Amino acid sequence: MTGRDPAALREVALRAGRDLAGAPAEEIVAWAVEEFGDRFCVTSSFADAVLAHLVSRVRPGVDVVFLDTGLHFTETLDVRDRVARDMAVNVRSIRPALTVGRQDAEYGPRLFERDPDSCCGLRKVEPLAEALEPYDAWATGLRRDESPSRAGTRVVDFDANRNMVKVAPIAAWTQSDVDAYVARHQVPVNELIRQGYASVGCWPCTRRTAPGEDPRAGRWPLFDKVECGIHS
Ligand code: SF4
Repeated sequence: MTGRDPAALREVALRAGRDLAGAPAEEIVAWAVEEFGDRFCVTSSFADAVLAHLVSRVRPGVDVVFLDTGLHFTETLDVRDRVARDMAVNVRSIRPALTVGRQDAEYGPRLFERDPDSCCGLRKVEPLAEALEPYDAWATGLRRDESPSRAGTRVVDFDANRNMVKVAPIAAWTQSDVDAYVARHQVPVNELIRQGYASVGCWPCTRRTAPGEDPRAGRWPLFDKVECGIHS
């Protein structure tokens, strides 16, 4: 089955974005599963497994795409492995074209300290673009309350960079909503979240956050950067 025409996807996305603006997360997921079938996937960075769990309840066996940059905390890989083992999903671990060693050889060591945009491009943005090719729609766990940079997130939108539909079922959720879902369904959570990391990415670019601090403030703390480029 080939992908749909981008103009048609754009129309579907904009209409659904209006119709589902105030809908519960489960209804948004059910719409996406019905509309796109196998051409719908979830992405996760495994700070927690809430989105993967939510979608798996509607569509067991759904693809969950994880970008294995080679620079993750072991706690993150542990969540990924538990999800792959225990949840009704198909985890796809995507590696960049270059290993960390080959990137060091070609671009110099510790590129993340000198040019994090290029490093994210090589290890996240480009691999994700390739990984998403089999799909018409992808779901993310973006939430409006995570950061001013995410405050305008729509529950369904057109991803013009990839000519896809982008679904954010829990965009309207607060951290309390996430915590309640985790407790109700016993969903795996990254141990680092419990240790004071409000947001978890690659280990060289993540630090703990203080209570009340912007949850994204712990990402790329030495740079004027709060997003890796996947969502911009
Ligand atoms: Fe590189 Fe840091 Fe981006 Fe990971 S988060 S890809 S280490 S710059």
